[in-house]
Amino acid sequence: MTGIEIAKKIKNGEISVEEVALEALERAEGDSCNAFITICEREQVIDRAREVQAQIDSGELGESALAGVPIAVKDNICTEGIRTTCGSRMLENYVPAYSATAVERINEAGLVIIGKTNMDEFGMGSTTETSFFGAVTNPHDPSRVAGGSSGGSAAAVAAGIVPIALGSDTGGSIRQPAAHCGVMGLKPTYGTVSRYGLVAYASSMDQIGPIATDEDDLIALYDIIKGPDKRDSTSISIRKDISLSGLKVGVLRETMTLFTGYSKETGSDQAVTDAFSEYVRKLKEQGAVVEEFNLKLLDYAVPAYYIIACAEASSNLARFDGVKYGFRANEYDDLRDMYAKTRSEGFGEEVRRRIELGEFTLSHGFYDQYYLKACKVRRLIHDEFKKAFEKYDVILMPTTTGIAPKLGESLSDPISMYKSDLFTVPINLVGIPAVSVPSGTKDGLSTGIQIVGDHFSEKMLLRAAGAIR
Ligand code: GLN
Repeated sequence: MTGIEIAKKIKNGEISVEEVALEALERAEGDSCNAFITICEREQVIDRAREVQAQIDSGELGESALAGVPIAVKDNICTEGIRTTCGSRMLENYVPAYSATAVERINEAGLVIIGKTNMDEFGMGSTTETSFFGAVTNPHDPSRVAGGSSGGSAAAVAAGIVPIALGSDTGGSIRQPAAHCGVMGLKPTYGTVSRYGLVAYASSMDQIGPIATDEDDLIALYDIIKGPDKRDSTSISIRKDISLSGLKVGVLRETMTLFTGYSKETGSDQAVTDAFSEYVRKLKEQGAVVEEFNLKLLDYAVPAYYIIACAEASSNLARFDGVKYGFRANEYDDLRDMYAKTRSEGFGEEVRRRIELGEFTLSHGFYDQYYLKACKVRRLIHDEFKKAFEKYDVILMPTTTGIAPKLGESLSDPISMYKSDLFTVPINLVGIPAVSVPSGTKDGLSTGIQIVGDHFSEKMLLRAAGAIR
């Protein structure tokens, strides 16, 4: 059942919030994908379910489309009283004293949090293998990854443990695991969901967003979490909506051509291209005006993204010094040594690599060559997308360059893991919204199509997603 269907049954009195919550909890406890880092205490869930039930019975939650529905939350989103680790040893025992705005809003809407989901350490990765708590396996094939970094949230939805989950997307971390697990995921317009309480990775690109099995659940959950928040000065309200009639679709030409060039290096699969062509055919059949176009700067998106993301990460992660948060090394000589040992032991390899990269590109003598250049490229990519949106309502491209890699494949080759983010990272550089829709399967493994829209077009994107799903 979808979240909305469950909420209706609860509203009609066919099932109780407690029954639904406990069933989800039991499924989470029996999970074989390692989707959860923390599963909530049974007592905690029962108390919460009863509280929500009372609110529903008294008519208090009449407006909420998802009242009583169980939800899983990515472990970089702060939950008051529930451990929030970011998939890192650094925060292994960190229990936040406050909740993220998105969490406050799902609580106010009567959702019941079942647990916190596994993720790449601080969101840095594309497979959930950089997690201190071990990899998440793909619900459709345990020898493969679930994608990342929101691998736990996508797997929890795909495995039917919860109907909906929250993830975060800095360079694809909602859309890519959604594609690999065969569910839907929305990366909203930058700023439409408050980042207050989302542990920062790359602040200029981080966004919280929903993962679900259909577009109605995605919209319902997005409606609950979005909107301005005075605690996040980059948060904004949604200003426009576009109608679906006479949809003009631009298909990224590189999808078909460049793509094959990439396949050798990234292991991209013919299945992705085939599924994509099939989808475009269906669109045309339904009367959409489809045209091919190309993004000249696509090749520069991955390098620009990783330079900017690592620069921001090195600054954001400076706060984890063994003094203010979480983990501290046991043995050290003096203050400097304490910092060094804490950060070497507390962070995993991928996070340390990115901090070093970020420090390097921001350092004197290299700043102009790398960081500043990447910022300029980011602006040019932005301008290219904006020009495309003068012609097209939506842009179509694949979400991933291939099917889910085998476990272990990506860890040994970080550069090819970065390259596999080819189609997701440009979206974050520009700040526009995109939704990933399952586009078919090959040997039981999913691929995803990404529908990309101009700023603030998420309602139209989700309608388009539903129309051609
Ligand atoms: N794979 C990308 C990275 O490692 C995206 C991660 C994300 O969106 N959090 O940076």
